[in-house]
Amino acid sequence: MKKEIILIMMSSLLLLSACTEKKSETNTLNSGIKKENLDLSVNPAEDFYQFACGGWIKNNPLTGEYARYGSFDQLAEQNREQLKTLIEGIAGQKNSDGTVSQKIGDLYLMGMDSNAIEKQGAAPIQPMLQNIQSIKSKNELTNCLVDLHLHNITPFFAVFGEGNPENSEMTIAWVWQSGLGIGDRDYYLEEKSEPIRKEYINLISGLLTLSGYSKMAGFENKEKNMAEKILKLETEMAKLFMNKNDLRDPYKTFNLKKVEELQNMLSVLNINQYLSGLGLSTDDALNISQPEYIKGLNKILKTNDLEVIKAYLSWNIIQNAAPYLSKDFVNADFNFYGKVLSGKEDNKPRWKRVIETVENALGEAVGQEYVKKYFPAEAKQRMLHLVENLQWALSERIKQNTWMADSTKAKAIDKLSSFIVKIGYPDKWRDYSALTISRDSYFANIMRAAEFESKYQLAKIGKPVDRSTWYMTPQTVNAYYNPSTNEICFPAGILQPPFFDMNADDAFNYGAIGVVIGHEMTHGFDDQGRNYNKAGNLENWWSEEDAKNFTERAQGLIEYFNRIEVFPGLFANGQFTLGENIADNGGLNVSFTAFQKAKKEGTIQDVMDGYTAEQRFFIAYAGVWANNIRDEEIQRRTKEDSHSLGKWRVNGTLPHITPFIEAFNVKEGNGMWLNPEARVQIW
Ligand SMILES: [Zn+2]
Repeated sequence: MKKEIILIMMSSLLLLSACTEKKSETNTLNSGIKKENLDLSVNPAEDFYQFACGGWIKNNPLTGEYARYGSFDQLAEQNREQLKTLIEGIAGQKNSDGTVSQKIGDLYLMGMDSNAIEKQGAAPIQPMLQNIQSIKSKNELTNCLVDLHLHNITPFFAVFGEGNPENSEMTIAWVWQSGLGIGDRDYYLEEKSEPIRKEYINLISGLLTLSGYSKMAGFENKEKNMAEKILKLETEMAKLFMNKNDLRDPYKTFNLKKVEELQNMLSVLNINQYLSGLGLSTDDALNISQPEYIKGLNKILKTNDLEVIKAYLSWNIIQNAAPYLSKDFVNADFNFYGKVLSGKEDNKPRWKRVIETVENALGEAVGQEYVKKYFPAEAKQRMLHLVENLQWALSERIKQNTWMADSTKAKAIDKLSSFIVKIGYPDKWRDYSALTISRDSYFANIMRAAEFESKYQLAKIGKPVDRSTWYMTPQTVNAYYNPSTNEICFPAGILQPPFFDMNADDAFNYGAIGVVIGHEMTHGFDDQGRNYNKAGNLENWWSEEDAKNFTERAQGLIEYFNRIEVFPGLFANGQFTLGENIADNGGLNVSFTAFQKAKKEGTIQDVMDGYTAEQRFFIAYAGVWANNIRDEEIQRRTKEDSHSLGKWRVNGTLPHITPFIEAFNVKEGNGMWLNPEARVQIW
């Protein structure tokens, strides 16, 4: 529900054998291309995704626990096995009380103790539900929201700390819309999602009974009726939610307001009391990201019966807790969020779910051990070198582009050279000493961890932004660009094969990890990122003419992706995926430029395994996006994921890249062909 940094989604990788590789050494390198991942029965000029990934797709069928399984998920599975070894090792040793090892070990053991969890049933959440039940008037809602928000349960809205868009040095409070149980607002508003809403009512109704809340609150046997009222309340919220295209516009979500102004908008709550409860100042301005929603929320709180609001708040608690309670709860939760929404057949085994919990609660502590054991020191150096090559390539491309004035180019290059680059793991580690993990109940530990995390995040508000903070743990298989700190980050988790291959010729590495790096860099200059200056402040540093040229080019990508039918009758959302499509387009162009330089310098071999260096570059790129995906998940991601689907990150992106067209001799009439004038090139 929170504002998100821009991830690559499945992302990337790492080290690159450097340009300085000596010629004599290149002979020992392999091509990095695995024949078994290809489908040689397909003409690459017709369907490149099937050609480059068809073998992988066939050899890696979906298992019941996956809605989508791709190269990134495959690497994440390997990482998870490593984490399992590591965490089980810690849990099996003798740990003194209060140490990080004791916390990791005990949380894992509590989560794996399914007998104790079954025995406790709904008991762990009943005190929280009793608190809701005891509310007598709407005046008590403020304190109730303080308590829930401090435990990372965020009905109605969420508050978190984030840079001030006008002064990115300072962290301010952001208020963000939140509290739709199904997820995207379209589920509430679209006719065609009616069957999903029906299932949602069944889920709510079943869990209101199972949790004991309906009995406590005196509406036993009328759960279905109450569930319908909760859905109606959430639908009223959904109608007022800012839509996902507007959420990507940093100007639309920036509305600095004084506390009195927020109080006027949201008169049902006592804002001073609320902010004090969270430990925040009542003097500082806040960013109200969706002011129309907040105003409308006031009316919703006024007009809905207290009983319905209480049931909705209880539902938020139950829904948050369900994955960690006894199997009745877990199964009901999985049936809706896993099966109905994503088409999964089986829940993940318990150990994987518990490792995720440990990761959520103590991610950096686990990461500290992970990098000691699994991250080779030379990887960081190699990666820094690669990032430098890509930075050079993007700067060359900016200098040479034909649509930007020199003065704007100079600012773009200045921003590029100001990137903060984070690789592997943070220089300073987070302190977990204030978090208590004990052997009472799994859920009680999860709530303490949630409170610890909320307080950690809220404590940043009103203070200078700490630019050494990492927004991902080191073991994560992903990468990000954060516009408000102008930083790119590549955690250790993605810096390994099969995405970066130390033993492979660099054509492969530029096509895989190189494009990922270029992708993150390009985010600094996509339709969102271009609104921020080098310091991370919202500032229009573009001339009118340059901005117009950018927008026209971007419009070409929007319209192109809008025409892609991802599922019978369902089309990609070109506006929503624009930033990611610009980043894929730019990432390919930038990394290809770096690749060409390396080739000129003689560090890349010509033909290997029957493919030219250029062909290997694009085969490696496509391999990153190989995946199998269920029909339900295609539909869900088209609503909720700002990244294009894997298949279209290949077959939708490559027709715009002229070096690809040339490398595979694509001709007019071929499936991968796009007329030169229709090809979009921005960076
Ligand atoms: Zn991205």
